[in-house]
Amino acid sequence: MTQTLLHVKQLENFIDGKWRAADETTSVINPATGEEVVHVPLSTADDVNEAVGIAKRAQKQWARVPAPQRAEVLYRVGQIMKDRKERLSQLLTMENGKVLEEARGEVQEGIDMAYYMAGEGRRLFGHTTPAELDNKFAMSVRSPVGVVGIITPWNFPIAIATWKSFPAIVAGNAVVWKPATETPIMAYELAKIFEEAGLPAGVVNVVFGSGSTVGEAMVNHEDIRVISFTGSNDTGRGIAAKCGQQLKKVSLEMGGKNAVIVMDDADLDLAADGIVWSAFGTSGQRCTAASRVIVHQSVKAELEEKLLNKMKELSIGNGLDETNKVGPIINKAGLDKIKSYIEIGKNEGAKLLAGGYELTDDELQDGYYFAPTLFTDATPTMRISQEEIFGPVVSLIPVDTFEEAIEVNNGVTYGLSSSIFTADVNRVFRAQRDLDTGIVYVNAGTTGAEIHLPFGGTKGTGNGHRDSGVQALDVFTEWKAVYVDYSGKLQRAQIDVE
Ligand code: NDP
Repeated sequence: MTQTLLHVKQLENFIDGKWRAADETTSVINPATGEEVVHVPLSTADDVNEAVGIAKRAQKQWARVPAPQRAEVLYRVGQIMKDRKERLSQLLTMENGKVLEEARGEVQEGIDMAYYMAGEGRRLFGHTTPAELDNKFAMSVRSPVGVVGIITPWNFPIAIATWKSFPAIVAGNAVVWKPATETPIMAYELAKIFEEAGLPAGVVNVVFGSGSTVGEAMVNHEDIRVISFTGSNDTGRGIAAKCGQQLKKVSLEMGGKNAVIVMDDADLDLAADGIVWSAFGTSGQRCTAASRVIVHQSVKAELEEKLLNKMKELSIGNGLDETNKVGPIINKAGLDKIKSYIEIGKNEGAKLLAGGYELTDDELQDGYYFAPTLFTDATPTMRISQEEIFGPVVSLIPVDTFEEAIEVNNGVTYGLSSSIFTADVNRVFRAQRDLDTGIVYVNAGTTGAEIHLPFGGTKGTGNGHRDSGVQALDVFTEWKAVYVDYSGKLQRAQIDVE
């Protein structure tokens, strides 16, 4: 099936605008069926070194191309993605497992990002500001940083890549990109699109391979001046430590323990819809997935009933079958991690209301499926209320007041996304002020970021940078302050001010 769309059995690296086969490869498995979909290179540190050298040369030329012309390439990228949206979406479902409707949404996010960042080619605004001396002009402008290293995860294999690579390109950088080994097809397809859109050779280079070899080589390479990473907290911390030693800029996005707050005046049907979508969409494998519901005690029983009813409607299976609403887990390691948290939750004393088991029915037995799972009566400090599970598991935590809800929401090490369902406008504004996450939703679930707003979080979610939005440009540019003195004499700031 994949071959009908993909036409190749083995992917190749894309370096200097050329396709290069690797000596060693590994197979990529469709998590819905257990079938092998393609082989992907396991590249070496030498491949990284070569790609960085080429990127370094290409970047010097690319930075001199006027930004509106750089943007033209992104407009073409967006158009090609649009023309291929259905094909890309199907391939995405085959490598990642998410249901087709969500895959289409993810590809659309990439298209939106292409057009949005192409628009930045005619902005890339700096600032002008009055100088403190007469006959002097002051401004600040953005400069590209040089060669950018992008390391992406498997859960949004094309959207996250576009969040990072498009701002990097439009700002005049060159890119070396290592996609997750589980989901290389989107990277291969996007590289082909860059090629067809006329991006000059060497501006984007894709080096497939493991994090421990290719990722590490990128992090340690002195000519990569920025690393932009999305993935697990442990890996991100390790990367940050290595970058810190080298004084290398690093942007990290590392997930969350996101909560939906449901107050006593909430529209409970709407809240239940928001929770089911945020908790079980992409099988809970989103960094913004809701894995906690902080519910006012007085509506807990009613909300539980509504959730259980809605969960019964979730058909689970291969995402290519459009009747299915929930697809598989990415791999066995992910499945095992989820299973371990079910035992942890039970042992901690949370009450299992639904799910909690792997699905092994006939048509599902070759994939990695887990039943949507609902715990209730969890406490804020239980491990299932604190740690990222990355699966279709959500825990209800009862509270008595709005203030307690905010405190519980903020009482985790992560800070990505939060949401509140309430009809009280005063609570809405207090919540958006007091919730300590980088993203806040009101009367909607925790997922559904729009690309022209900053994406990222506080505390253990990241290190202060943002993907997408105009803020992404801050990761891929340096600020340069420029002073032009047209007085014809020596003027000394702070000294010659009269
Ligand atoms: P990782 O953080 O290990 O992987 C993310 C990316 O980093 C992949 O491309 C990976 O390569 C690469 N990588 C791994 N090790 C290194 C390294 N030492 N140096 C540089 N790059 C490296 O996450 P996993 O895929 O293993 O998932 C584990 C858990 O992480 C999940 O259960 C979830 O909790 C969390 N996660 C969070 C995501 C988010 O959106 N914030 C996304 C994905 C995972 P490769 O895998 O090819 O070896």
